[in-house]
Amino acid sequence: MLSTMQDGPLSIAHLLRHGSRVHAASEVVTWTGEGSRRSTYAEVGREAARLANALRGLGVTGDQRVGTFMWNNTEHLVAYLAVPAMGAVLHTLNLRLFPEQLTYIVNHAEDHVILVDASVTPLLAKVLPTFTTVRHVVVVNGDKAALSAPDGVTVHSYAELLAGQPDEFDWPVVDEHSAAAMCYTSGTTGNPKGVVYSHRSIWLHSMQVCMTDSMAVSQSDRALVIVPQFHAMAWGMPYAAFMVGASLIMPDRFLQPAPLAAIIAAEKPTMTGAVPTIWQGLLAHLTEHPQDLTPLGDVIVGGSACPPALMQAFDELGVTIIHAWGMTETSPLGSVSRPPAGLDPKQAWEYRVLQGRFPASVRARLIDDDGAELPWDGQTVGELEVAGPWVTASYYQLEAGGDGAEKFHDGWLRTGDVGTITPDGFLRLTDRSKDIIKSGGEWISSVDLENEVMAHPAVAEAAVIGVPDEKWDERPLVAVVLREGQQAAPEELREFLADKVAKWQVPENWTFVEEVPKTSVGKFDKKRLRAAFAEGRLDIRHLS
Ligand code: ADP
Repeated sequence: MLSTMQDGPLSIAHLLRHGSRVHAASEVVTWTGEGSRRSTYAEVGREAARLANALRGLGVTGDQRVGTFMWNNTEHLVAYLAVPAMGAVLHTLNLRLFPEQLTYIVNHAEDHVILVDASVTPLLAKVLPTFTTVRHVVVVNGDKAALSAPDGVTVHSYAELLAGQPDEFDWPVVDEHSAAAMCYTSGTTGNPKGVVYSHRSIWLHSMQVCMTDSMAVSQSDRALVIVPQFHAMAWGMPYAAFMVGASLIMPDRFLQPAPLAAIIAAEKPTMTGAVPTIWQGLLAHLTEHPQDLTPLGDVIVGGSACPPALMQAFDELGVTIIHAWGMTETSPLGSVSRPPAGLDPKQAWEYRVLQGRFPASVRARLIDDDGAELPWDGQTVGELEVAGPWVTASYYQLEAGGDGAEKFHDGWLRTGDVGTITPDGFLRLTDRSKDIIKSGGEWISSVDLENEVMAHPAVAEAAVIGVPDEKWDERPLVAVVLREGQQAAPEELREFLADKVAKWQVPENWTFVEEVPKTSVGKFDKKRLRAAFAEGRLDIRHLS
């Protein structure tokens, strides 16, 4: 028997219409370096219509791709809404990719138009001649003359292009399964891989982002969006905020600790989210320049393991770090760590440091090397696989057996993450499968070691990689960044770990570095650290 329920498509056009009407007075605020510029959601809705009209005028039809090469700002939010709502596909381009990777993803996605922030036109100019399908570049917030176009490409000014366009657009009805937006993963092996989100997946994911035991975005929030809009859709915050009427605070290109602190002081966000390195930087800044952070409540931290020491430090500042896990392939929200009800603070803490509990829509399982399913006992370690309505089932134009095909089987996504799951559904990641250290046939979690070392007061950052060892195959090497003006010898750090990790896991190889290399999205880049080790560029102290 079929249900009697209606079956209207879940669409970005509806999200746009709803947000700009029902939450007309909510606002998006963009930091300018000295202060803020503001637009209401009603104005965003009208600007989205003007952008859609302008893009139609440039020949954007059907599911053509419109790229964005932009920071987090009002115009990027407008593009997030207008492009999918008109039936085209938004392709967010990571500003920090290597030029060859940018060329690859723009040509692979076949972008027709690119919207670019004036502040990053020099970056785009270098690669623009290598783009084979781009016909128009639209310069946002600045002078179009700054960008000279290769043959076949026309450069426009966003302001001029939108001036005089109608404030209304006849948003088409689209199939909810059709593509709305795409984002390439940074590509730790081979070329970057395209993940294509649908109208439906974005809608359902947005509802999840707003759920109380998830990121809990609500109409009373002022959400500071630090995660770049070009990375995993800014963790879903722009769409979720527009859905429920939370105001958005966009830092544009001002992502360093001092301006972030200034934005927090001026705009008083109630919630935010970002990778741990952002919070490490902000913490160091706040230690030097204390400031009142109220009303900032929850800070979602994910993207890489959040060191417990960082959570404690923010607890003392009255801000609660909520640990979450996800990946570009999962839209990205996978799990969020809000402890079960009724626990005392010590028990709750044991849950807070985990990667989080899976919501009903994200199915999870742990798999051993032979593909057998492992128990959820909080002990048994296996590779995490996930499935669900906002988990990708493939990569864009993935060929059978092609590079990346190994990530998918039986309807599940192989995450490449290794860990345990408690009986009540909390994920604890011990590593990425390629980062795990195999010492004498036993596994050492690089993440656990990093967290313990980073709890030392003299340590700002610590990254651990496995290095070849004659006796044990592999042993951990710790690359330490000391806090400014602080000292700690390897012997002292080893001593510090003595009662925290198993004796055989205590590292004997140490190196001190100015900075841990970071990926384009601010995670520890262990590939570059390994290369530095292999090329003999690290000054290593070996303790006997
Ligand atoms: P990339 O692979 O380019 O880093 P993603 O941003 O999609 O792109 O990264 C997803 C990966 O980030 C996950 O597979 C996992 O390894 C890591 N990650 C995300 N959140 C956490 C977390 N809370 N703790 C540990 N690792 C995390």
